[in-house]
Amino acid sequence: MLPYLNLQDAEAGLGRELSFAEKIWFNYSANKHDFVLHSHNIIFLCFFYSLVPLPYMLVELSRSKKIMKYKVQPKVQRSFWDMFKCYKDVMKSFLIVVGPLQLLSYPTINLIGIRTGLPLPSLWELLLQLGVYFLVEDYVGYWVHRWLHTKWGYENIHHVHHEYRAPIGFSAPYAHWSEILILGFPAFLGPALIPGHIITYWLWFILRQMEAIDTHSGYEFPWTKYFPFYAGAKFHDYHHYVGRRSQSNFSSVFTYCDYLYGTDKGYRCYMVLANKVLLNSVGD
Ligand SMILES: [Zn+2]
Ligand SMILES: [Zn+2]
Repeated sequence: MLPYLNLQDAEAGLGRELSFAEKIWFNYSANKHDFVLHSHNIIFLCFFYSLVPLPYMLVELSRSKKIMKYKVQPKVQRSFWDMFKCYKDVMKSFLIVVGPLQLLSYPTINLIGIRTGLPLPSLWELLLQLGVYFLVEDYVGYWVHRWLHTKWGYENIHHVHHEYRAPIGFSAPYAHWSEILILGFPAFLGPALIPGHIITYWLWFILRQMEAIDTHSGYEFPWTKYFPFYAGAKFHDYHHYVGRRSQSNFSSVFTYCDYLYGTDKGYRCYMVLANKVLLNSVGD
């Protein structure tokens, strides 16, 4: 809730004219309690999870040969009902686990100092914070994922996420309820270390979710190569394909941790062999 009576009051408080975006934010948030703004995350989570995997689903159902060349495991074809079942299971876990977790985390959000007022963050502040959040989550998530691949972690928790040997966009958050809670920690760590505006906080969770959906989509489109160190679908697909025995490709966003700690060696050997087979088949 903003501590200003109206736009003029806000401008007097800041000592300058509000930008267009700030006026919109003022009109939207002035009379909303911070708890209500914080709870928006649940709506964004359900909305983007329903929307972003849809193009991948349509591509999968179309079986278009032009697009099939980008599919990482072309022998695996999913039906509408396969994908819809996954969607239903994940939505259930959102309502039972993620929603209550978001609501219960409100006091922590207040404590770490995520602000909801004016001024809005500058573009540089927003980009810098998002960059840090991605790096922090990727690094800590790498080690948490490695722990999930210990015998105990895999058998008791992580095996659920690995039910999909050929992942689909909808399966990105498909996991045991305790894994959802555990992976919430690295996601929350960045905003806790460098708290910003709630808009940055919303954007962080939306972008991270979109990235996870792309990584699990089963399609590696050419635009991936324009993002340096971006893991992409092929990288994470290999992790799912190898499954239980996988001690490779633990990172979810970037490739540098697996490179630094030598956990991408199996994948790199596999890619060399796969490229050789491809070259030989073209030469035949
Ligand atoms: Zn795994
Ligand atoms: Zn996965």
